[in-house]
Amino acid sequence: MRILKEAIEQYLTKETFGRCDFHTHSFLSEGALLPMEALRRAHALGIEVYAITDHASASTLDIIPKVVKDCELATKHWGIIAIPGIELTHVPVGAMDELIDQSLELGAKIIVIHGDYDNFRARRERNQSSSSKK
Ligand SMILES: [Zn+2]
Repeated sequence: MRILKEAIEQYLTKETFGRCDFHTHSFLSEGALLPMEALRRAHALGIEVYAITDHASASTLDIIPKVVKDCELATKHWGIIAIPGIELTHVPVGAMDELIDQSLELGAKIIVIHGDYDNFRARRERNQSSSSKK
């Protein structure tokens, strides 16, 4: 959630308010459109900030660089702020940090946690409080 919060703080401004979507899917998971077509339609509708956050787990993180390429093209040629992301889905809590790191390395700028977020957050809070006591 921290990563999504940072992205929202970075991109959600008075000027873009109401014209942002930070959580969408292409046909790479449960959506119907190519990432590029989703970006094109978003741009045509006047959306200024559009993140593609397809569902993935360890076996499908390779979709991230593909989305990065389309987002770069959309931003360069249409001016929409296109943000590559990922929705880590039903990943075991113990593997989450590793997959977050891999997602960031592959180019994801927004990471949504789907499936076990409450346990993930509780574990993070425990780890943070135990490390701050040292
Ligand atoms: Zn989703």
